[in-house]
Amino acid sequence: MQPATTARILDGAGLARRLREQARGRVAENQGPAPYLRVLLLGENPASEAYVSSKAKAAAEAGIRAETLRLPIDITPAALLAEVARANADTQVDGILVQLPLPPGHDAARVLDSVHPLKDVDGFHPENVGLLHQGRPRFVPCTPAGIMELLAAYEIPIRGSRAVVLGRSDIVGKPIAALLTARDATVTICHSKTRDLARVCREADILVAAIGRPGFVTREFVREGAAVIDVGINRLSSLDDAPENLKRSARIRKALEEKGRVLVGDVDFDDVAPFAGWITPVPGGVGPLTVAMLLSNTVKAAGLRSDRK
Ligand code: NDP
Repeated sequence: MQPATTARILDGAGLARRLREQARGRVAENQGPAPYLRVLLLGENPASEAYVSSKAKAAAEAGIRAETLRLPIDITPAALLAEVARANADTQVDGILVQLPLPPGHDAARVLDSVHPLKDVDGFHPENVGLLHQGRPRFVPCTPAGIMELLAAYEIPIRGSRAVVLGRSDIVGKPIAALLTARDATVTICHSKTRDLARVCREADILVAAIGRPGFVTREFVREGAAVIDVGINRLSSLDDAPENLKRSARIRKALEEKGRVLVGDVDFDDVAPFAGWITPVPGGVGPLTVAMLLSNTVKAAGLRSDRK
């Protein structure tokens, strides 16, 4: 049971369903073969398996052909690059996704650089990153794109607002900062070396937390009435893994007792929700939007190619 809240809950799961439906409509309208997404998955990382299977299921429901190419964990860097090259050259393949993280020994940047920029549905190729930062986006990374959809759906004001992004990864922190800047927010990016972190975060009208630290963002980080977007996905399998503040949560204790595991965000939901204006739950907030935006990018990739048969 969720605690009593004053914040409006941002229902990412519901919005994701509508966006997936839209993607399905765009696929159905198009002439020619269904968009084709090839996912390259190395080894058997359980979290990656779960992400890939939810992407494949959502793609199939939208009428997108999704193929997961399972590659052995000990594949050589050269052989992996050859698989990417094969997908680049395959005229049937519209979108390519290399599931991260890669096992040790692989240079993720080199692999992502090798994906054809017009098939780069994750938006991680330097050409697409550059276009995003120049304010003329082609493929926007899926998680930040989903956050922008959520802010739009709930009409959360962006222009002129103060936004603080906690985390500076290439996947979330940097691109969401670029997108918010392009929409006329005044953006501060924080990271592990930021001084007075809570004070900086308290300036935010929009606070995006993407650091991978369970329950790190407590009430002292949040200005009353702010929109709090929790990107973090942290798996706890015991109370020992939880920081002190989360150990006090009856909801988390109950989930751990009943299921032996619980997903929590980077925000201490119970502490922050009575105080914020809007907040995303975990799960059911940003996560489902990431999958929906992947479908949208794949449909877009199919539309960009002129050599489809
Ligand atoms: P990274 O590990 O790549 O980056 C983490 C960032 O957080 C870094 O910039 C790091 O700073 C900063 N950071 C870490 N600890 C602190 C701290 N104590 N104080 C301030 N800053 C800190 O993470 P990702 O961006 O890939 O992912 C972040 C979280 O979002 C994870 O939980 C991940 O699982 C989740 N995620 C969820 C997605 C979804 O679909 N909902 C998609 C992608 C990620 P520095 O740069 O100084 O090291």
